[in-house]
Formats: sequence, structure tokens, C-alpha cells
Amino acid sequence: MEFELWYLIVVPLLFAAGWWCRGLDQRQRENEQKPGTYYRGINLLLNDQPDKAIDAFIEVVKLDPETIELHHALGNLFSRRGEFDRAVRIHNHLLNREDLPQEERSLALFELGNDYLKAGIYDRAEESFKRLLKEPKYRLETMRALLKIYCTEKEWESAISMANDLEKQAGENHQAEIGHFYCELASLAIRRKDFDKAVDLLNQARQVDRRSVRALIMLGEIAMKAGNPENALRYWNKVESVNAEFLPLIMTQMAQAYEQLGQHDQAMNLIQRALDDQPSAETVSIALSLIEKTEGVDSARAMLREELKRRPTLWTYEKLAQMRLSANPQDEELKLLTSLLKPYVNNPGRYRCAHCGFQAKGFQWLCPGCSSWGSYSPKRQAE
Ligand SMILES: [Zn+2]
Repeated sequence: MEFELWYLIVVPLLFAAGWWCRGLDQRQRENEQKPGTYYRGINLLLNDQPDKAIDAFIEVVKLDPETIELHHALGNLFSRRGEFDRAVRIHNHLLNREDLPQEERSLALFELGNDYLKAGIYDRAEESFKRLLKEPKYRLETMRALLKIYCTEKEWESAISMANDLEKQAGENHQAEIGHFYCELASLAIRRKDFDKAVDLLNQARQVDRRSVRALIMLGEIAMKAGNPENALRYWNKVESVNAEFLPLIMTQMAQAYEQLGQHDQAMNLIQRALDDQPSAETVSIALSLIEKTEGVDSARAMLREELKRRPTLWTYEKLAQMRLSANPQDEELKLLTSLLKPYVNNPGRYRCAHCGFQAKGFQWLCPGCSSWGSYSPKRQAE
């Protein structure tokens, strides 16, 4: 067979055409695959199989990097599963696209801020949210997220300003929170021994929140430190009129202030008031140690007997038995009785958040569980 020169041209042309057709075929196949994979992903998601759904969606995103909605969905799925680094990568990938419409860009930025917030990378979260403050659609939610960040980062001045802005722009009431922010600033001033500044801040707390028990308690403590029990009692007596439930929290300090002023009757009066109005094992326990210190064991025992008659509890009974035992250490029966009662009365109970139920040994102004302010009842919950 004779070799012809035009073969040399036709063969590469056929080769190129074949290559192109193969590419076309593959693209067609990919386009056909895409909806199928997409629906499979949704189906898996509806069947509560997020792992497999993510795999399917990743496949679609690979086949078509233009799918904006799918990027958002995938980012949210990662975020919900706690895979924040992957969520951040997806949202950053979206933000880096120059053709992204403004609305999609804002949404991606908002989601990115939330990824950082959930991952605990607060400086990046703050940066993302601050870029969104001018977007009317996201402004209020962004402001709330920023307030949360400022509280976590203990940036109380920024928190005050953001909470004030939220009051003005969203019509929300943040008075009690702002009061606590001023109290937090006052605590820092007290730690620096700048008591004048602390008093100033606490007065601001009271201006914002007239019912700020915390500010009153702290003002009393500062007055006491300055050697002015009379002034301290003025603040602490106000606590009782704002919310008498807080009395057990400050009862010991108040009784000490009365004793310093030589007003023992007033101290006893306060103890009786607490026993009458705020009856609890804790109140009796505080009353017991105060009376024992100032009036002696006999008065303390008389008070316990009276309490046992008024409100018979295992706790009071055990305390009375203990006192009897200290007076008669040889009494074997009493020893046995008190040792049997001890396991039932030793636990003083815990303070509990009214919002989320988180329990704490000590009283909290800010719930460590749900970050609510002032959600703890001053009464211990018996276990
Ligand atoms: Zn809580």
C-alpha cells in the first residue's frame, strides 16, 4: 500500500476530534450525574444521614463549583456537626469568589462569623461581624452576636455600648444586663483598689437598673471596707426592700455591721426576720453561728429548739443532736444517732439557674451554663 502524505494530517485531526468528543461526553455525563447526586444528598439528609449527605454534596460541588446554595448548605452542615475548620473553608471559598452577588456575600460573611463564634475564635468572629454592621438585613443579629462576644471576652465597655445600641435600634430591654456590666467593671476597679471609681461605676449600675441588688451589695461591701458600717447597712437594708430573698446572702455581713455599731438588738432582729421570712436550712445555719458567737451556746440551742417546733426538718434535728452531743460526749446513743443522720443533712444544696438548670456550689450572677445574667435564685436547692 502506498503511503500518502495526507495521512499525516488526518490522523492527528481524528485524534483531536476523538479527544474533544470524549470530553463532551464526560461533561454531559457529569451534568446528568449532578441532579442525581444532588437529590441523593437531600434524600440522605432527610433520612438523617448527614455523613453520607455531605459526601454526596461534596461530589456535586466538585462537579459544579458554581452552586452557591449548595456551598451554604454544606457549610451549615459542617458547622452543625462541629467541623468548624471545614465550614470556615467553605464560607471563605464563597467569599473569595469575585462574581458572588452582594446578598450571598453578606450571608457567607454572617455564616463565617458564626463558624468562628462556635469554634471559640472570637477575634475572627468579631472581625467578620463588624464588617456586617452596615448591612440592614443582618445588623441586629450581628449586634447580638457581638454583644455575646464582648461578654465572653469580658470587654465590658464595648458590651455596654452594644447593649445600649440594641435598646435603641431593636427596642430590646438590656437594663439588667447593663447593670451587671457596670458591676463587672466595678469589680475590676476594686481589684485595682480604686474604690472611688468602683463606687462611681456601681452608682451608674443603679442608674441603669434601679433594682440592681448586686450593685447595692457591692456598695455595702466597699463602705464596710472603708470602715463605715452605718453606710454599708444603708445599702444592705435596701437589698431587703428590693428583693428580700437575697437576705441570706448578706445576713452575716449585716449582723457583723450591727455588732460593730454596738447594735446587738438590731442584729438579733435581722436574724429573726430572716428566720421568719426566708426560712431555709441555710438561714438557720447562719443564724446558728451568729447567735452562738454573740449570745452563746444556750441561746443557739434555744433558737434551734424553737425552729424545730416551727418547721421540723431533719437538718435542724441533726444540728440540735450535735449540740447535745458536744455537751455530753459520753452519750453513745446520741453519737450513733448523729452519725446515722449525718449523710442526710451534710449536703447544703446547690444554687440553680432558672433558665437552664445549671447547678453551682456558690451563688453566680452569670450562669456558666447558658450565659444568662441574674438567672440564679439566691435560695439553694436541696438535693
Ligand atoms: Zn443557665
